Amino acid sequence: MKNNCIFCQIIDGTLNATFILKEENCIVIKDIAPKAPIHYLIIPKVHIPDVASISPSQFDVITNLFAVAQKIGKTLPGSQAYKLVINNGHDAGQRVFHLHMHFLSGPISIQGI
Ligand code: AMP
Ligand code: ZN
Repeated sequence: MKNNCIFCQIIDGTLNATFILKEENCIVIKDIAPKAPIHYLIIPKVHIPDVASISPSQFDVITNLFAVAQKIGKTLPGSQAYKLVINNGHDAGQRVFHLHMHFLSGPISIQGI
């Protein structure tokens, strides 16, 4: 938990979000500025700033992000085709430095992601 991190604040309930799923190790919320008809963020509960910061002992976090993405794709009507995006670093478009995976579905424009 990092106090000035908006995703940590959503995880601990001090900031509102539209929740899609609450899992043991991660949450899924609606992106506040959707870039596709369905645009969710899969966010691990542990505060890891970016892909570059993941330690070898934390790679199960990444496995879990894919497991949850697969679950969304299997259970959510209309989301069998989807795009998964993880930005690493400001120059790649990352703006929130708490690791997260974008889940995008429906007719997709990837501009801005
Ligand atoms: P990235 O650019 O990969 O760091 O993605 C950050 C994403 O978080 C963007 O798509 C934003 O629209 C989204 N975002 C920022 N603040 C919030 C919020 N309070 N609730 C939901 N999504 C947010
Ligand atoms: Zn955080």
